[in-house]
Amino acid sequence: ATDWSTDGTARRRDTYYAATLKKFVPFRDPIVFKKGSMQYLWDAEDNKYIDLLGMNVCISVGHSHPTVVKAAQAQAADLTHCTTMFYHPVPAHLAEELAATLPKGPEWVVHFCNSGSEAIDLAMTIARTHTGNLDLLALRTAYHGPTAAAQSVTGISGWRHPGMPGNVAIIPEPNQYRGIFGENAGAAPYLDEIERTIATATTGRVAGMLVESVQGYGGIVAMPEGYMSGAAERVRAAGGLYIADEVQSGFGRTGDHMWGFEADGVIPDIIVMAKGIGNGFPLAAVVTKREIAEPMAEKFLFHTYGANPTCCAAGRAVLQVIREDNVQENARIVGAELLKRLEDLKSKHKAIGDVRGRGLMLAIEMVKDHKTKEPDRETTAAVFEACRESRLILSKSGPNQSVLRMVPPMCLSLDDVDEVAEGLDRAFSGLG
Ligand code: PMP
Repeated sequence: ATDWSTDGTARRRDTYYAATLKKFVPFRDPIVFKKGSMQYLWDAEDNKYIDLLGMNVCISVGHSHPTVVKAAQAQAADLTHCTTMFYHPVPAHLAEELAATLPKGPEWVVHFCNSGSEAIDLAMTIARTHTGNLDLLALRTAYHGPTAAAQSVTGISGWRHPGMPGNVAIIPEPNQYRGIFGENAGAAPYLDEIERTIATATTGRVAGMLVESVQGYGGIVAMPEGYMSGAAERVRAAGGLYIADEVQSGFGRTGDHMWGFEADGVIPDIIVMAKGIGNGFPLAAVVTKREIAEPMAEKFLFHTYGANPTCCAAGRAVLQVIREDNVQENARIVGAELLKRLEDLKSKHKAIGDVRGRGLMLAIEMVKDHKTKEPDRETTAAVFEACRESRLILSKSGPNQSVLRMVPPMCLSLDDVDEVAEGLDRAFSGLG
């Protein structure tokens, strides 16, 4: 039997979890979650929470969404797993349906794997194989995942461990609030940095550049207008590929578009998808142009669980729900309203230095001083804990843990927004 008590779970975790797993626990007093439905979670004592984190963005269309659960249940009962060595129609359908969501023009092909970092790792290998170049560019405050290769393109020291591969130049992120070129500097000076870096820190020829269309863990940093297209241009001029990490910003989350990169009209060479693609089922995909994937076939590459039909059945159901339930449109409308309410909070509480985001990818950044913009980690932690009392689950993010990130299941409603705004207002008002 399962022991649902907090104490029992704490004791087992303390005894049997590795140190890193125990470190990444957000709350002072942990919560045991027992049930989820759409944008809500319930703990073991049946208290209801609004989930503004979506279990770290992977719950795209709602916790235990019935359409997704039914699809996965039916597939698991028929044939839980079938590797890509054999033929199965479900992953093949999903590949077709994913390709249909992408810009017209290229012949898109899909490689399935199990997690975002695995997909990033593969995207890096594809870029290096296709171009014959080694050097990659990535951004400061980027987060691309825990495999050794994904760590090497992650621009936050706290996530980088010994033993990462090299040949990566990390360059300044075009943060319009606190970037190195100051507030609202636009894309231009950061695009110059790409050129300068290629000329100084690489062989002059590069394999590519990885960009989150909206940096997630880095604290919701949206690429400014012209940056993604400008970066693609410069990287291609040096022989490289433009790799869009859509792990957080994809599947309609930015509201205006299905894919974050569409905001800038750029067509990436490689697109990395994970998290929201499976609504909680472990699934990821590297989508690329046919000719770019081709040279990889000179050698074998195979993920045992890649294209697992149970997860792919969930993935197909996610795309169906996104279409049928107008999920992207909801992200746009509800996200715009939530951002408006965050702006009201900013004018009322001086601890808030900035509010920002697109669709249902939003953030509040806390500073000690509006001029120096010194990050305020303590206030962020206090507001975060106070929100928990209002039964709101958020995330402390950013390189300084001074950003509250909101990336809820995209079924969040306008009524929820009222509750969220009131809860946040209470939390800020209660600060000493
Ligand atoms: N890219 C981005 C933008 C992410 O946010 C994450 C996960 N937080 C990853 C890649 C890695 O994904 P995973 O945890 O599934 O390996």
